[in-house]
Amino acid sequence: MKKKLIAGNWKMNASLAANESLVRALQAGLAANPARCDVAVCVSAPYLAQLQGLLAPGGMALGAQDVSAFEAGAYTGEVSASMLKEFGVRYCLVGHSERRLYHGESDALVASKAQRALAAGITPIVCIGETLAEREAGRTEEVVKRQLAAVIAANGHCVSEIVVAYEPVWAIGTGKTASPEQAQQVHAVLRAQLQAASAHAERIQILYGGSMNAANAEQLLAQADIDGGLIGGAALKSADFLTIIAAAQ
Ligand code: PEP
Repeated sequence: MKKKLIAGNWKMNASLAANESLVRALQAGLAANPARCDVAVCVSAPYLAQLQGLLAPGGMALGAQDVSAFEAGAYTGEVSASMLKEFGVRYCLVGHSERRLYHGESDALVASKAQRALAAGITPIVCIGETLAEREAGRTEEVVKRQLAAVIAANGHCVSEIVVAYEPVWAIGTGKTASPEQAQQVHAVLRAQLQAASAHAERIQILYGGSMNAANAEQLLAQADIDGGLIGGAALKSADFLTIIAAAQ
């Protein structure tokens, strides 16, 4: 059975002091109760060096929250995949709904970012999900399949190296969670799409994200096609994040 992945997305919530105390608390919790899943924390770029120093080999993995679609050059403010790699980054979020919404990221741009990450040996966590209006219009499947199709088309057989995070936009940071059945239904659609694209689709972890917390994680993670979680708010509280990790076996 493939290992689950629990990834924390700290978003733009961090400071040197807060990061250190959160990591230390997580490390103490995991020393007492070792994880049976993969664990990662995705931090803002300025803190990668700090986290690289704090995280021990074989423990929690380091993740970034975004990557440039360009390799190098005159792209002021951008951070390339090879730069992330130099700081020990193992995972990188691409296409988070907040980037699609506030930064106008298109499906094609997200696919290019995934490509750059893969080329640098970083696993992209490709975030996809429908808005409330799209769900209410009965367009959930169409939207998530379109978003994933762009990544499949750009990455060919390498798609078996990605992680997918299904994050219904209406559930992110809202306290509203997709029910385990709603989430499983979409995950099964995504699994079928990946299977049609790759002979190795079974190994692709499909995470659920959207107000996953200490109370609902176990039920969500028990679904057949939910291979882990992408956690925002609850990843900032060590006790909650540790409970979610413990729920992932
Ligand atoms: C996220 O930002 O990816 C997320 C899932 O946030 P939250 O858990 O706070 O809904």
